[in-house]
Amino acid sequence: KAAGGQRWQRFDPRMDRAADDTARLAADLRGALAGEQFFVLYQPIVSLPDGVTTGAEVLLRWQHPERGLVPPDVFIPVAERTGVIHELGAWVFEQACRQSADWSARFGAGAPGRISVNVSARQLADPDFVDAVAATLRATGADTDHLLLEVTETAVLNAETAIDQLNRLKALGLRIALDDFGTGHSSLSLLLTCPVDVLKVDKSFVSGASAEDAGAIIVKNIIGFTTDFGIDAVAEGVETRDQAERLHAAGYRLAQGYLFGRPMSAEAFEATFQTAAVAA
Ligand code: C2E
Ligand code: MG
Ligand code: MG
Ligand code: MG
Repeated sequence: KAAGGQRWQRFDPRMDRAADDTARLAADLRGALAGEQFFVLYQPIVSLPDGVTTGAEVLLRWQHPERGLVPPDVFIPVAERTGVIHELGAWVFEQACRQSADWSARFGAGAPGRISVNVSARQLADPDFVDAVAATLRATGADTDHLLLEVTETAVLNAETAIDQLNRLKALGLRIALDDFGTGHSSLSLLLTCPVDVLKVDKSFVSGASAEDAGAIIVKNIIGFTTDFGIDAVAEGVETRDQAERLHAAGYRLAQGYLFGRPMSAEAFEATFQTAAVAA
């Protein structure tokens, strides 16, 4: 009765409601691209020694007409399950390519180094993915030197063809980052088979409160072996000066987090790297 109307409800309707909600979200997602409800933000990636912006990660946002801003942790899994991720991911990559080409044309060497784009497990498993990426690169004229694709360890481990796909992406000139490193079922042997250029160290290890906790020890070990392998490491989720100082002392050169900048519009991001270029 409390739910109103002539509705039948089971004793515990929570699971049904959750399933209903996901179904509704999935339906909304299909219409959202056409409805122009998506947009992307750019979060700076900075060089720790001097704080200079070296690039940005592209982060997708969904402005739902009734729900407001839906976080990617909620809608990306639904987009993956329903297959919408292929179209959505292609759209994000195209935005990144267009923006990168535009920055290169307008700022030349003063443009931010590299734009990172997240690629989901299902995209990587799609046999047509690499051809679609190549077509977008051609159509937008974006320079692969200014782009990087982020994949998760889980995505690489789940798809039989993942390493092959990554090698094909590398052949196009793209760089590859392993995202959220340390949170999946990672094994270090992945670094021997997987053509990675960058490891993004998950924020759960970075956010440790002291220099002695387990996260801090992992963070120190990761910088040790990435240096030996010739791989760049980016510390994710850096929120405090203290964390930044400890990472720098441990040997990290690159970091990303609220301390340096929240995800922001292309215009706002542009302003930050223009200011940096003028100051330099
Ligand atoms: P991610 O790729 O690991 O992205 C980093 C996430 O950490 C972002 O969350 C970012 O806003 C957040 N973050 C950055 N600095 C800090 C910090 O200092 N503190 C805290 N607490 N958080 C910080 P966001 O934008 O909500 O995205 C969440 C996840 O959704 C991403 O994690 C990524 O897995 C996925 N995602 C976002 N955009 C895309 C996309 O275009 N495609 C795909 N496939 N996945 C995406
Ligand atoms: Mg990422
Ligand atoms: Mg990450
Ligand atoms: Mg993440």
